Amino acid sequence: MSTNPRLEIDLGRLRHNAAAIVGLAGARGVSVTGVVKGCCGDPQVGRAMLDGGVSALGDSRVANLFRLREALPGTELWLLRLPMPSEVAEVAALADVVLISEISSARLLGQAARQLGRVIRVILMVDVGDLREGVWPDRAVEVSGALAGTAGIDLVGLGTNLACFGGVIPDAENMARLLSVVQAVEERLGRRVEVVSGGNSANLNLFLEGVHPEGINNLRIGEGILLGREAITHQLVPGVYQDAFTLFVEVIEEAEKPTVPLGRIGRDAFGGVPSFVDRGIRRRAVLAAGRQDLAVDAVFPRAPGAIVLGASSDHLLVDVTGTQEGWPPGRELAFDLGYAALLQAMTSPYVAKRHVG
Ligand SMILES: *Cc1c(COP(=O)(O)O)cnc(C)c1O
Repeated sequence: MSTNPRLEIDLGRLRHNAAAIVGLAGARGVSVTGVVKGCCGDPQVGRAMLDGGVSALGDSRVANLFRLREALPGTELWLLRLPMPSEVAEVAALADVVLISEISSARLLGQAARQLGRVIRVILMVDVGDLREGVWPDRAVEVSGALAGTAGIDLVGLGTNLACFGGVIPDAENMARLLSVVQAVEERLGRRVEVVSGGNSANLNLFLEGVHPEGINNLRIGEGILLGREAITHQLVPGVYQDAFTLFVEVIEEAEKPTVPLGRIGRDAFGGVPSFVDRGIRRRAVLAAGRQDLAVDAVFPRAPGAIVLGASSDHLLVDVTGTQEGWPPGRELAFDLGYAALLQAMTSPYVAKRHVG
């Protein structure tokens, strides 16, 4: 089978990144759940994160939890997406910790867990402003009470998630909103909640700015470990690698062509109306991968001076004039990846995956 396009996964670098972030968090008493959904739950990536010191692994999809459970028995597994009622039997069998916001789903999960003789730990998600999942803060006490009285589950914590739908930046204010809910819930339950899971990689900024609030004792970190940065400011965590993943794509044509197409312009392969700036004749490489394998806005050539022009389903166009090098057919271009491109490359069956390090 063809080995191109090919995604190289440097496990040593991922181990290093996990250890760096676990260290940063650990200094503030915060545990890290390593999130592997950006890699389709790749168990080797999960192993690297565990070796780096994460306390559990998390993924959004049950199919990925299954892979992880098979390959890494004994690892604490978190389901990060609210469970579908249709999948509670699998969730009850595979997950140790489940994020939840609906009482009805929690009851179904509890029933399924009891049939298996298990108790599933759940974390109630509270929406502090990003408008994805989670109960609105004014409902959290009531819902916590209902969850605490549900058989087959154990309400162990509260959590929130930001910077996903609304792009809301985690800050002192929204973290305080979560912590005030925690306090109200603790009063209602008459006990402390064990886990306060404050968010994802975007929360790493609070460490870097020195304003991480006391009381948040867990984060769920994917992108920060995988790509060494987070989604909002793309700020770097000191001492982490941003190149643990490399996508190699092979050149199939190299030619000098104009920068503006000839003829009347209608729509491109994806229905967009392209526009072009005339930069004269440029040397361009046509590469053998496309939107089926990568997110074209999130692939960054390593070769200085190379510029991504665009992609159709199976072709990627790169202006290589500025590289001052030849890119004949058969030569490979290496790319750094943003999160969307990583996700797409991992998910594409056409991209070979190779683990190194
Ligand atoms: C994806 C996800 C995470 C991890 O997000 P990163 O930005 O990759 O760190 C954490 N929590 C939930 C609920 C998620 O869906």
